[in-house]
Amino acid sequence: MSFAELGLVAPLLRAVQEKNYTTPSPIQQQAIPAVLTGKDVMAAAQTGTGKTASFTLPLLQRLSTGFKPKSNHIRALVLTPTRELAAQVGENVDTYGKYLPLKSAVVYGGVKINPQMMKLRAGLDVLVATPGRLLDLYNQNAVHFSQVEILVLDEADRMLDMGFIRDIRKIISLLPKKRQTLLFSATFSGDIRQLASGLLLEPIQIEISPEKTTAETVTQSLYEVDKSKKTALLTKLIKDNNWTQVLVFTRTKHGADRLAKYLTKEHVPAAAIHGDKSQGARTRALADFKVNHIRVLVATDIAARGIDISALPHVVNYELPNVAEDYVHRIGRTGRAGSEGEAISLVCAEEAESLSAIENLIRQHLPRQQLAGFAPVEAIPVTKLSDKVKKPKKPKKPKVFN
Ligand code: AMP
Repeated sequence: MSFAELGLVAPLLRAVQEKNYTTPSPIQQQAIPAVLTGKDVMAAAQTGTGKTASFTLPLLQRLSTGFKPKSNHIRALVLTPTRELAAQVGENVDTYGKYLPLKSAVVYGGVKINPQMMKLRAGLDVLVATPGRLLDLYNQNAVHFSQVEILVLDEADRMLDMGFIRDIRKIISLLPKKRQTLLFSATFSGDIRQLASGLLLEPIQIEISPEKTTAETVTQSLYEVDKSKKTALLTKLIKDNNWTQVLVFTRTKHGADRLAKYLTKEHVPAAAIHGDKSQGARTRALADFKVNHIRVLVATDIAARGIDISALPHVVNYELPNVAEDYVHRIGRTGRAGSEGEAISLVCAEEAESLSAIENLIRQHLPRQQLAGFAPVEAIPVTKLSDKVKKPKKPKKPKVFN
């Protein structure tokens, strides 16, 4: 299957070709033709599956015909949970839309609002936004929604997790009733279904299972380690294996800062990103990481959401996440779009419960290893994989889209 067979127009095919994508990913094969029909779409897909292009490409194609937006009006609105993800979707829109005469912009909080207002003044075909800043702009009369033809909710599950539901409902109440709505989410939880039921009209439903996209390309394992020796073990692993681009997850912002400082002192250049860092600091850290000026990026779950570095080779869970699903999100940062990746977790005795939840979720035991001098006194108990693991619920009335 080629991109041309999906019905994309020449200016988009040219942009895709320049990215050297040869084959559409499974979500792209399903979502692109679905979105092109103009119908509502509800898609369950993890990041790392090519989901951004799966809605950006057909969205741009649909906007390539039709009227120009009036001043301060927009034709398509993409809502994302974080600034990083907004910036990344914006980059995708620019990349794929470079041969189409469409105007786009990205708006998010933490930076000056005036330049964003200036961009909106001329009218935009695509606006990528985080919910809070969008409402600020609306309240200042800088954006009008009466010309919105398409709404995209990207990473809807994360938006709900982050408490954006009221903002989202408010924004939706301001949009024209007649529009196309696309909802992308890593999972279809009860809350997401409830949101979708009031929002989407007879949607085409698409599910791409996360196991297929991550487990096959990511090698996962864990080190059993004494809690007090995690930092030393991590430093040793990075140095001995000569890892040059490592994304490390910690549970807390404070822990991220402390670890980045320690590594840098140990001559492993590192930076931390989390919600308390200014937008400038986050953007700089990410840029430095992408071009290998720093070897390690230490991140909290929320800050890491949306980080897109093609072929990121190593992800380390310095601490296991509290929520088992976050493990899948974290390791989805490596082995993206078919490239090989390695995900390592440093697990101490206190984390046995979190480990058990994760292994039950992914329905496999992570291979264990120990390094002499770092292992805990007592081995971490082996997880009993329950037979009663809930499989992700299937949509009630699945519509098969070919
Ligand atoms: P996403 O799931 O949208 O975050 O995309 C994950 C990564 O896959 C990004 O780095 C994209 O540039 C890349 N990508 C998207 N579609 C394709 C494709 N068809 N072939 C190869 N890489 C792709």
